[in-house]
Amino acid sequence: MQTEYIIVGQGICGTFLSYYLTKKGIQHIIIDESKPQTASKVASGVINPITGRRLVRTWMIEEVMPFAVAAYRELEKELNCNLIRQTNIIDFHTTPQMKLAFDERLPQEQEYLSVVDNQQQFDKYFNYYFGAGEINPCWLIDINILMSEWRKKLTTENTLSDEYFSVENLEIHELGVTYKNINAKKIIFCDGVSGTDNPWFKLLPYAPNKGEVLIVEIDDLPRNNIYKTNLSIVPWKENLFWVGSTYEWKFEHPNPTDIFREKTEILLNQWLKVPFKVINHLSSVRPANIERRPFVGFHPLHPQIGILNGMGTKGCSLAPYFANEFVEHLTDNTNINPSVDIKRFAKILSK
Ligand SMILES: Cc1cc2nc3c(=O)[nH]c(=O)nc-3n(C[C@H](O)[C@H](O)[C@H](O)COP(=O)(O)OP(=O)(O)OC[C@H]3O[C@@H](n4cnc5c(N)ncnc54)[C@H](O)[C@@H]3O)c2cc1C
Repeated sequence: MQTEYIIVGQGICGTFLSYYLTKKGIQHIIIDESKPQTASKVASGVINPITGRRLVRTWMIEEVMPFAVAAYRELEKELNCNLIRQTNIIDFHTTPQMKLAFDERLPQEQEYLSVVDNQQQFDKYFNYYFGAGEINPCWLIDINILMSEWRKKLTTENTLSDEYFSVENLEIHELGVTYKNINAKKIIFCDGVSGTDNPWFKLLPYAPNKGEVLIVEIDDLPRNNIYKTNLSIVPWKENLFWVGSTYEWKFEHPNPTDIFREKTEILLNQWLKVPFKVINHLSSVRPANIERRPFVGFHPLHPQIGILNGMGTKGCSLAPYFANEFVEHLTDNTNINPSVDIKRFAKILSK
């Protein structure tokens, strides 16, 4: 079988790469082993323009957020499903200092920070003592629907192979690659945190970061906001909410732990005034890295082998933008943003 590109992995990166290749009419095949708890499947799907205790804008948000919003809307039409809705964050301040920090940033950051209209509306749902502010606009993406709908399309077109990709079976030639019976010009790895074991890219400065989540039922809570304090409560599938998450740089295994569940239930009991019921407990590992910038481009010694990875905590906003940039590079030889181009690691990768 002959194709132009093999993509390994159909998380959010592989899905968007496949989408932009499809838009340009470029043949490709995805190899993805369907696993229940990948980073993309466990992610809450929030695009939040403001981060951290200092309430600063996230990197490139002015470019990546509008691009992502347009991309998800385009895909909604293409796949005939709902993928994105504006869902602002109500940020309940955890201390008087955090309230002060918010109030001080408010006049400087009017594009994304605002006061909450009718804050008393939240009094019947939450215990909070230092007020709340709003981050607006934020967006909520249904990544699971996106990936499953795109997978259906690939399956119908016979361009998805649901299997484990094993590097031993990849042959690299001067002008391309062969994987089992598939010949392609290039292979692009969108393998998420498995990239840390990838023989061509494992020397990139990955810093995997684990996140655990509870999926809970909260019958009485309105679903038109994301609620944030030390935890976030995010509308999830059907009538459920996603509650999380941890950001662990040191962890023994990627699986859910009792300690997270116990701690989170205690925090939820303190924060919520309405009853909740835990339905599920998920966990996965973010493909983060010490630079907090994606990995995009081709291996310096093997131009047939590429990568789109390293999205860290921001796959929902970064993946659409940089998948498109990568495909434009492939078709029109445009430049990849030097901050994400893996050329910056040429020395390390050439070892
Ligand atoms: C708890 C949690 C909450 C998060 N919340 C958000 C959020 O709200 N907003 C946001 O923007 N980001 C969030 N993220 C981060 C986001 O999930 C990641 O940035 C993004 O999902 C990474 O996507 P990916 O496609 O690179 O990797 P993945 O989603 O891990 O996809 C990789 C795919 O490759 C497949 N694969 C790997 N190796 C092989 C192989 N050898 N053979 C076959 N298949 C293979 C895997 O099975 C998987 O399907 C969150 C992450 C976590 C863990």
